[in-house]
Amino acid sequence: MERQIREALEAVQDPELKRNIVELRMVRDISIRDGEARITLALTTMGCPMKKRIVEDVERAVRKVAGVSSVHVELTVMSREELDHLFPKHPLQGIEKVARFIAVASGKGGVGKTTVAINLALALSREGFQVGLLDADVYGPSIPTMLDLSERPRAEAKMIVPLEKFGLKIMSFGFFLGGAQPLIWRGPLVGKTIKQFLDEVMWGHLDYLVVDLPPGTGDPSITIAQSVPSASVVMVTTPQEVALADVRKSIGMFEEMHIEICGIVENMSYFSCGHSKERIEIFGSGGGEILSRETGLPLLGSIPIDIKLRKGGDMGVPLMVEAPDSETSEVFRAIAQKVIGRLNAGS
Ligand code: ADP
Repeated sequence: MERQIREALEAVQDPELKRNIVELRMVRDISIRDGEARITLALTTMGCPMKKRIVEDVERAVRKVAGVSSVHVELTVMSREELDHLFPKHPLQGIEKVARFIAVASGKGGVGKTTVAINLALALSREGFQVGLLDADVYGPSIPTMLDLSERPRAEAKMIVPLEKFGLKIMSFGFFLGGAQPLIWRGPLVGKTIKQFLDEVMWGHLDYLVVDLPPGTGDPSITIAQSVPSASVVMVTTPQEVALADVRKSIGMFEEMHIEICGIVENMSYFSCGHSKERIEIFGSGGGEILSRETGLPLLGSIPIDIKLRKGGDMGVPLMVEAPDSETSEVFRAIAQKVIGRLNAGS
């Protein structure tokens, strides 16, 4: 009689999943004693809104089987593994198809970390790679302004669709803040949000995901750097001794956490006077090189003070888009090449 009951149950569908409950492996156990059929059903969740309806459908179907006088349904829930089997993950979900992570960090704010993250991402994209940019600077997410993005990303199949601009897939903490709210992000919230940005954003296939970290060695930067799988860090600094002191601390922190550092980028290194081509070292000279010697980390490049970089940030059109062949863009391209080389050598 068990076979007849099973056949009868094959006619019962899960109203939501639109497949029969036997095929869905919801039927766990069937036993018959003195005309009483006992059926154990595993639901996807105890809170299943269709629970009552499924139970009624099962009772109705089984009661029709010859020899069954009463039906008793017992409920249980599926295990994590069974649910994963039933709902295979979206093939392009989260960061599954992201090949490499580059985290851009700095010892303190205002050294040009975001400017470097954006133009480095664009330089990688110009090399023909698929590139994403994740603005994880919880203190001051400035990528929406620097790329002139004000829409809120939409959701699709329970995933967040990143915005797209200049060929990059972009996600920012800033997309979810209404206006200029002051923000106090605490460790657990930062951890939760960054996990969402990694797991629940449809990044799709990416060769590189560039992550703009919060500045400094505070809680958020540690949490985020630790959350990004096998990230390689690009440290941005200006040449002054004060900035170097901060960056040393930051490098120490990453090393302690066994996070790989790809190299150092010196920003606002010099000002190139248009007439004489003379390099004026406004913030002192050689800071990046000194740091590189001291730490054994390569100096990936020195970016000049370039008014077009600042304007690009203000206008929402980055230098690598506005003037891709300019001298400063050339520096970004060279940095991108070095980063690619370092990452390939490391793998
Ligand atoms: P951070 O992310 O470290 O806080 P930003 O990238 O926001 O720094 O840069 C701070 C400001 O300095 C921005 O207005 C930016 O446009 C400007 N800036 C950054 N690098 C340069 C540069 N090399 N030349 C001119 N302006 C720059």
